[in-house]
Amino acid sequence: MSAAIFEAQSSRVLFGPGCLAQLSVELDRLGAQRVMLVSSEGRSEMAEKATASAGGRIVESFDQAVQHVPQHVAHGACEAAASSNADCIVALGGSSAIGVAKAVALESSILILAIPTTYAGSEMTPIWGLTREGRKETGRNPRVQPKVVMYDPDLTLGLPAKVTASSGLNAMAHCVEALYASDANPLTSAAAVEGLKLLSTSLPLLVSQPADREQRGVALQGAWLAGFSLGTVQMALHHKLCHTLGGTFDLRHADTHAVLLPYTAAFNRDLAPDAMRSAATALGVKDAPTGLLAISKAVDAPQSLRDLGMKEEDIDRAADIAVERPYPNPRPVTRDDIRALLAAAWAGNGDYVTS
Ligand code: NAD
Repeated sequence: MSAAIFEAQSSRVLFGPGCLAQLSVELDRLGAQRVMLVSSEGRSEMAEKATASAGGRIVESFDQAVQHVPQHVAHGACEAAASSNADCIVALGGSSAIGVAKAVALESSILILAIPTTYAGSEMTPIWGLTREGRKETGRNPRVQPKVVMYDPDLTLGLPAKVTASSGLNAMAHCVEALYASDANPLTSAAAVEGLKLLSTSLPLLVSQPADREQRGVALQGAWLAGFSLGTVQMALHHKLCHTLGGTFDLRHADTHAVLLPYTAAFNRDLAPDAMRSAATALGVKDAPTGLLAISKAVDAPQSLRDLGMKEEDIDRAADIAVERPYPNPRPVTRDDIRALLAAAWAGNGDYVTS
């Protein structure tokens, strides 16, 4: 049994169909008077619902959130918050909207209330990310952790199958890495196992029946547990690689997670036997990496980095960046081994995962 340190993150979570109706009450509890709504372009319908539930407090709307939080988007959001004198952000949508809210909170004392509508999990973490000059930086700061999180499955009934699949696999990656984290603890591991169970059962069903309210709730609970896991322990190779590829080559974040997850799990398979056993049991399979590959195929997720637009000649640069800074990982990370992993994931060579 290894030593552990667990520090609870303080956020208030509301879960349930229709809980968006409680928004005004929750803003009252926070003492929020002037609220900026942050979302991504195209989400105007749900933004209108949130505005209607906010009790007349929305003084500014910023709908330019995009993945990886490019510096110019963060600046735009910071300026909008300052000029409207907002004291709270309602971040509505996927983790891109939540990420932009966090960029503002990093530079100010603004509070965040998050209403997540994908499964990526940023709402439960103190982790921020910013992309400057082609490099994605991430860090932890309790100031960016949303004070309130409202999970309303009704807002996710129209989530496209592609986003359901990729953000759901992103959440599963949080769970898998939490199980073999250098600072894993019993609470996070229990959450990660349950998160894997909930997500692995609901995602394949949701891809064919997107409006299944019951399963939307199951998946959103899985996302809650996955985000909690991500926020509580140190992440390893899988997340570092995804940040390298996303920030440097502008690959879609959740799709990159979806492609890499079976490969990074296979990379660590032999050096994290307990975690792999727990993950396999949660997935109801014999071998966790093989089971993860099967789920990614079942939900029709992209199968190779090539499919995501990465060029073969970028594999070497990606391997160089991935080993620039050391981080804990069950299997030592060498450039040659990472290059082999990336080459297999680039080609979608499933033999790397199953053999
Ligand atoms: P996203 O927020 O970019 O959303 C993907 C697409 O789905 C967008 O077009 C969005 O408008 C749309 N969408 C969202 N909810 C919808 C709904 N209910 N119905 C219809 N369309 C909807 O993608 P994401 O995967 O949620 O987030 C990716 C970003 O989050 C990346 O930048 C990643 O780095 C970051 N992230 C951060 C953390 C963290 O802890 N800091 C954790 C996970 C992901």
